[in-house]
Amino acid sequence: MSKKLPAIFLAHGSPMNAILENDYTRVLKKLGKEIEKPKAILVISAHWQTRQTYITIDDAPNTIYDFYGFPDELYKIKYNSIGSKKYAQLILDKFKNIKGTTEWGLDHASWTVLKHMYPEANIPVIEMSLNVELDERGHYNLGKSLSSLREEGILIIGSGNIVHNLMKMDYDMYGKPFEWAVKFDSYIKQALDERNRERLVNYNNAGVVASLAVPTKEHYLPLLYVAALQEEDEEVSYIYEDIQHGSMAMRSFIIGG
Ligand code: ZN
Repeated sequence: MSKKLPAIFLAHGSPMNAILENDYTRVLKKLGKEIEKPKAILVISAHWQTRQTYITIDDAPNTIYDFYGFPDELYKIKYNSIGSKKYAQLILDKFKNIKGTTEWGLDHASWTVLKHMYPEANIPVIEMSLNVELDERGHYNLGKSLSSLREEGILIIGSGNIVHNLMKMDYDMYGKPFEWAVKFDSYIKQALDERNRERLVNYNNAGVVASLAVPTKEHYLPLLYVAALQEEDEEVSYIYEDIQHGSMAMRSFIIGG
């Protein structure tokens, strides 16, 4: 069996991380250098929700600026990753429940992190949407089914945030985290440590802290794809842990590799 590439859950947080240099962006830079160079990257994006599951199939994906009111500098960044058609087709051939589209590109769940990991943009990048018709278990099962792609040299990245509440956020990126944010982040960390998949899928059982931490689930769901890819002999390693803006958990982890 060929060597499997790791699977990674990356918190992306504010788009500002794309232009900042902080502890988190330094971790991303280091990560890009440390892991074996993938043939292609598949990013499951919190910022792309569709009916059915789609992937981008495009030899020149657009950089999408899906955010408002940020400095001009951010809207000038172009992440011109090289063509991904070959690998997108490989995924479409394997998975009949996944459709291809040229109607998207790379939204900020992809390019704000890849800009640090792979600044040369010399690896094909494919994005995958979140199918709004699936429940949590459906997302988990779909994630698990992607396992063989790791042996094809495809790096799978789930890009979201364990805690993501924009209504409660602190304007200061480095402001004090809310207590409920810390609690929910720890609750999920413990589930990851204990391989408690049921707790991850049924995160709402955490009660009020879950409803504050995950007011809408699109930033949480990419985690289920990555957790589902963990094999029996693989550990979860945390590559970064922090809470930005009081209500955005930046906890990121890697499996295997
Ligand atoms: Zn986001």
